[in-house]
Amino acid sequence: MKFQSASIDVAGMRTQNRTMMLQLVWQARELSRAELARRTGMSRSTVSSLVAELIDAGLVDETGEGTSSGGRRPILLRWRDDAFLIAGIDLGATHVACALTDLHGRVVAWRHVRFDVRSDPPGALAQLETLVDACLAETGMPRTRLAGLGVAVPSPVDPAHPGRLAPMILPAWADIDLADALRARFDLPVVIDNDANLGAIAEQWWGAGRAGQDLTFVKLGMGVGAGHILNGGIHRGAHGVAGEFSHVTLGPEGPPCACGQRGCLVRHIGSVAVCARIEAGVRTRPESLLAEYPPSVDRLVKATHAGDALALEITAEIAQALGTALVTLLNLLSPACIVLGGQLSLLGPHLLEPVRTHLRRHTLWPELGETPVVITALGQSNIALGAATALLAEVLARPELLPLGHGRLSA
Ligand SMILES: [Zn+2]
Repeated sequence: MKFQSASIDVAGMRTQNRTMMLQLVWQARELSRAELARRTGMSRSTVSSLVAELIDAGLVDETGEGTSSGGRRPILLRWRDDAFLIAGIDLGATHVACALTDLHGRVVAWRHVRFDVRSDPPGALAQLETLVDACLAETGMPRTRLAGLGVAVPSPVDPAHPGRLAPMILPAWADIDLADALRARFDLPVVIDNDANLGAIAEQWWGAGRAGQDLTFVKLGMGVGAGHILNGGIHRGAHGVAGEFSHVTLGPEGPPCACGQRGCLVRHIGSVAVCARIEAGVRTRPESLLAEYPPSVDRLVKATHAGDALALEITAEIAQALGTALVTLLNLLSPACIVLGGQLSLLGPHLLEPVRTHLRRHTLWPELGETPVVITALGQSNIALGAATALLAEVLARPELLPLGHGRLSA
């Protein structure tokens, strides 16, 4: 049997207590020392000593006076959202985006550029760094104020090797470890996860998620990714690839897919399939607003909102396919809520209403059919915000990761 020395135990407990206290102040926003002592069961002197460390680190400050139940009014401790910034990166197949957030999920700067991430990894990494610096410059903050980077990737992520992207999806990245590459450039904590998973985290923390209920976020892009929050956490499955909604098949008579099946969802509503459908449609309908070259999902969204007949027809087909796949999802998982994001979600009610009708008609249990389906209210930066949130969760669990220059939280 091996015993740890008493000094290590005491130091470990102190770190643990300080982390608990930090999380309580973050959650409450404002809290007195007396309340902290009550909630943690720690002595007033222990609380005061640990709070002094948090104040010294710049994470907490003292503010005004709270309400009193008699006697002296207590001074409140306030969590400082502005103590650090987090860079949330959305690395798509054809774009790089950065949302700079504070320590409470508020996006303070946002940049988005089209870029061929699939075929140019060094270029994409350079672009990413340029965007982070441009966002920092916009806020007037130096890099030393960055707590770390959260990165969303369009690939399943193996939690044991998060920097290795799936070569089947991003073959040019096969020899690159994204986590190592980013640490070399920034020397900061990095978390990497699948984009749909991070979209789900953004909804859980700041969006449609309510009271810890299960939810599913569906990202409608080149692929169709689904992030599931089950029992409060991301459901990754046994191999980290759970949520590959793309390859749910809608029927054996559909178009063939790379996976070997026919009629996969991605072959109906993935952006490549949508563009092919537009091209086929305008051949016989040259009067359509979609006839302008090249075809794009963006053009479909605009033409649909403008009432173009062909665009409305294609959008109805997309809603039908998505509705069919969502019935399967409801039957299997029955989340409390489904949130749609990605480019096609900009179709808004043109997508939402027929999908809701389809769910009501084609679920056996009325409760399933009434499951709320909404478009993300977090906007275009939702995936990047989710990436920043994953890093925020990491530093709230391990505040010693924070690059504290002025104060110091020892591990
Ligand atoms: Zn498939």
